[in-house]
Amino acid sequence: MAANKKKILVTESLSATGRALLNARDDVELVEFPNLIQAPDFEALLKLHAPVHAVALGATRFGETELEAAREMKVVTRIGVGFDAVDVPALSRRKVPLMVAGSANSPSVAEQALFMMLTLAKRAGEMHALVRDGQWKARLGKLPYDLFGKTVLIVGFGRIGTRTARRCLAMEMHVQVYDPYKPADEIRRAGCEPVSDLDAALPSGDFVSIHCPKTPETVGLFNAARLKRMKPSAYLVNTARGGIIDEAALYDALSSGRLAGAGLDVFAQEPPPVPNPLFEIPNVVIAPHMAGVTREALDRMSEQTALNILSALDGDPIRQNVINQEVL
Ligand code: NAD
Repeated sequence: MAANKKKILVTESLSATGRALLNARDDVELVEFPNLIQAPDFEALLKLHAPVHAVALGATRFGETELEAAREMKVVTRIGVGFDAVDVPALSRRKVPLMVAGSANSPSVAEQALFMMLTLAKRAGEMHALVRDGQWKARLGKLPYDLFGKTVLIVGFGRIGTRTARRCLAMEMHVQVYDPYKPADEIRRAGCEPVSDLDAALPSGDFVSIHCPKTPETVGLFNAARLKRMKPSAYLVNTARGGIIDEAALYDALSSGRLAGAGLDVFAQEPPPVPNPLFEIPNVVIAPHMAGVTREALDRMSEQTALNILSALDGDPIRQNVINQEVL
């Protein structure tokens, strides 16, 4: 009977395969909401459909107000892995698990990090323009670079950082890892060199690829002082979260030639305000926070999200995907 069904709010980006898994159950009912819904509209939607038992979030913020509006929330899931937009302590206080999509999008983000390193080193935009604009003769004045033999510093050695490291090792790069929460032995066993002091490691990196979460500790991790420690020939890639790099300081470093280039999938404000002087710099490659949202990753994340929701509603949440383990 409809009245007994568990109500699940899902963002429009949940793929058909994820929906099919949920719709196969006759004890749940889906309600869709737009990915970019504003907080007051989301609260109103939750109240309208209350009691709401589960939610699958894209970028929408979720905390005390939303829990209150939903009345009987049993599980909050993200169709992704980052959870800086979710108030985890608020969920924990009410014993509501927060679940993420595990490694469903990790290979995709690692590929994007490698793509950005290659695009920058191979000067893809400039090479394209040389041919298109009939400037073939100028090509020897714009030599591209190899990844082979270069040093890359990976910041954050989790699901994505480990995979980026493997891809860099395949390019025959020397891979250094900065992750204060991972044992040095684990990093060494993966064929990489652990570094315990970020400031000391930065001057030797030809590439730096960021894969740590956005936390109070990592906001502004790449500030003006740290950017100054990088080589002028180095490239900085951020596929993790906006705000980890200070964008104004990055603009200063790039526009004054103190840094060779940057690859940015994520921004302090999303979408970022345009026009934006940072985006006009030739050695900057940008993408609209799509590293983890390939066609395949979206299916994998959506399926995992559906399984996460059903596991929690059935009283046995998939443990390794629960962020606030204390609620189990
Ligand atoms: P994860 O939790 O598996 O790994 C994060 C790693 O960062 C952990 O090993 C942790 O110890 C380390 N870390 C924490 N604080 C650190 C610090 N101060 N310095 C260095 N390392 C630190 O997460 P993951 O699945 O690898 O994802 C990493 C981040 O990537 C996510 O938090 C998310 O913000 C971002 N992400 C972005 C996209 C995208 O589409 N651009 C997609 C997925 C994930």
